[in-house]
Amino acid sequence: MICRLFGSVSQKVPSVLYWSSLMKPQVVFVLGGPGAGKGTQCSKIVENFNYTHLSAGDLLRAERAREGSEFGQLIANYIKEGKIVPVEITINLIRKAMEETMQRDEKKFRFLIDGFPRNEDNLQGWRDVMEERADVKFVLFFDCGNKVCIDRCLERGKSSGRTDDNRESLEKRIQTYLQSTRPIIDLYQTHGKVRTVDAARCVDEVFADVKTILDKEG
Ligand code: UDP
Ligand code: MG
Repeated sequence: MICRLFGSVSQKVPSVLYWSSLMKPQVVFVLGGPGAGKGTQCSKIVENFNYTHLSAGDLLRAERAREGSEFGQLIANYIKEGKIVPVEITINLIRKAMEETMQRDEKKFRFLIDGFPRNEDNLQGWRDVMEERADVKFVLFFDCGNKVCIDRCLERGKSSGRTDDNRESLEKRIQTYLQSTRPIIDLYQTHGKVRTVDAARCVDEVFADVKTILDKEG
C-alpha cells in the first residue's frame, strides 16, 4: 500500500552518480531495546568522534509533527502501538537526512543510525535504497535486560512527553524488539558485525566501553 503511495522508491532518490561524487557514507547502526541508552550514548559519541547522529525515531517524530505530512497520522499510530513504520517512509527520511548533512559539509560522512534497522522490512528497505550508496561498518549493540529498559523509559516518561513512554506502549515495544529486532542483531552477529556493550550500567561506564570500540574501529 505504502509502496504504491510512493510509486517506485528509486524514482525519488537522486542518482547513484550524485552519491558517488561524495565520500561514501560510513554507517554504524545503533541497536538495543527501548531505553537501552542508544540516544544518550550517541550524543556522547558525537561529542568525542566525528559522527553525525541520526535517530530513526526522532526523524519519524519530526515527520509526524511536520505540517502537511501525509504520513503524520500513520506514524503517530505506529509509534503509540510500538509497531514499526513501513520502511518506505523511514528510509526516505534517513536518506534525506544523510544527503542534507553531506551537502552542508562533505567531511561529515560518518553516521550513527540509531534505532534502525528494527525488522526484516527495515533491512530490505536499506538494501533496496542504501546498500550501494553507503558502507555499514558494524552494529553497535546496547545489551540491556527488559526490566531495566522498562524502568528507564517509565522514568523518562515523567518528562519526555513521548506518547510511547508508558507501560502499555512499552510492553508492546519490548515485544516488537524481542520478536523483530533481535533477529536482525543475530543476523549481523553471524557475519561478525556486532559490537556488544553491556548497557545496564551507568552512562559513563557504558561510554568507556563504547569509546574503546570506536577508538579501535574508527
Ligand atoms: N520507529 C519505527 N522505525 C524506526 C525507528 C522507530 O517505526 O526505524 C518507531 C517505532 O514505533 C518505535 C518508535 O518509533 O517504537 C520509537 O523509536 P525510538 O528509536 O525513538 O525509541 P527508543 O528505542 O530510542 O526508545
Ligand atoms: Mg532513542
